[in-house]
Amino acid sequence: MIQVDYIVVGIGLAGISFCEQLRANNKSFVVFDNASQLSSTVAGGLYNPVVLKRFTPVWKCQEQLEQALPMYERLEQELGVKLDYKLPVYRKFASLEEQNHWFTASDKPILSKYLSTQIVKNTNEAVEAPFGFGEVLETGRIDVRTLIEAYKNELQKNNQLNETLFDYDELKFENNGIEYRDIKAKHIVFAEGFGIKDNPFFNNLPLNPAKGELLIIHAPELKIDYVLKAGAFLIPLGDDNYIVGATYEWKDLTNQPSEVAKEELSAKLQKIINCPFTIVNQVAGVRPTVKDRRPLVGHHADYRNMYVLNGLGTRGVMIGPYVASQLYDFIENELPLESEIDIKRFQ
Ligand SMILES: Cc1cc2nc3c(=O)[nH]c(=O)nc-3n(C[C@H](O)[C@H](O)[C@H](O)COP(=O)(O)OP(=O)(O)OC[C@H]3O[C@@H](n4cnc5c(N)ncnc54)[C@H](O)[C@@H]3O)c2cc1C
Repeated sequence: MIQVDYIVVGIGLAGISFCEQLRANNKSFVVFDNASQLSSTVAGGLYNPVVLKRFTPVWKCQEQLEQALPMYERLEQELGVKLDYKLPVYRKFASLEEQNHWFTASDKPILSKYLSTQIVKNTNEAVEAPFGFGEVLETGRIDVRTLIEAYKNELQKNNQLNETLFDYDELKFENNGIEYRDIKAKHIVFAEGFGIKDNPFFNNLPLNPAKGELLIIHAPELKIDYVLKAGAFLIPLGDDNYIVGATYEWKDLTNQPSEVAKEELSAKLQKIINCPFTIVNQVAGVRPTVKDRRPLVGHHADYRNMYVLNGLGTRGVMIGPYVASQLYDFIENELPLESEIDIKRFQ
């Protein structure tokens, strides 16, 4: 028998964020992941504290960034990979009226540090933007795919990773913990993203999963070095490659890229830029979004050693580290969870 403090199921943004809490606190753990969900792997990786449709702050944006950015910085050092690409986000204005809304929003105390009050003029002929852009500050992109690969390699080196399906039927409950095959653990944390649909202990939680797709394009004449938010997002990757996204789809919940999404994104792109581009890749994944748009954190009503960390929705990069730290403090330090994220709200 192997004895550990924790079993973690899922090594997407939620799982990684929680494992980082465990590592920081010298807790032993093993991870199960069978790469059945791709949300984190395909994510655009943007972090941005402002809702760009309405110019309102993202829920708990400051607290989230304070947890998230140091975590990625630490992981860059420890894993020896580049993860955090600091990039401004330029929100294209559709009219003078929108510019005025931007200025009104930038006057609000919580937004003033994130919304620049200088309108950026467009000087790039490949981009259509007669009313210019508003610049969002403290934004960037985390290279989530690189993070996951490097993180898994490290776990593998330490014999902490099982790249197999976690079979819920084989879980046994003991007085002081749980048993799974040859592993005894004090606690188990489920962080399976949309994979939660197969988890008999938590699949009653009200997920509203949204498939998302992205294109990777090559556009040598585009030459932008900022994230452009117009009808879609355009995120520069270097070497004249860009991410274009994303779509939202609630019926087809597979990880298969679709022709419909390709057409939708190509049509949007043609309205934003007027230079040639070729599509070099297309990816898809299912976001674990929740009916009330708040994460799903807490313990099972009957089994006290069993926890869930899910519902990161459309903003896993920022929110993952924040909710993982709350879950850790809840389990180990008996601090209460914020009622907005606690799954008790659905009981
Ligand atoms: C197209 C797209 C673009 C996005 N862009 C952004 C963005 O720019 N910025 C941002 O912040 N967020 C973005 N997101 C959202 C973000 O990706 C999610 O919030 C985040 O990935 C959720 O992470 P997770 O760890 O909860 O789930 P997942 O990433 O789905 O991870 C769950 C893991 O659990 C594993 N698993 C599940 N069940 C089992 C089982 N039974 N046994 C073993 N393993 C199991 C899966 O294989 C998977 O690796 C985007 C999402 C999509 C789809």
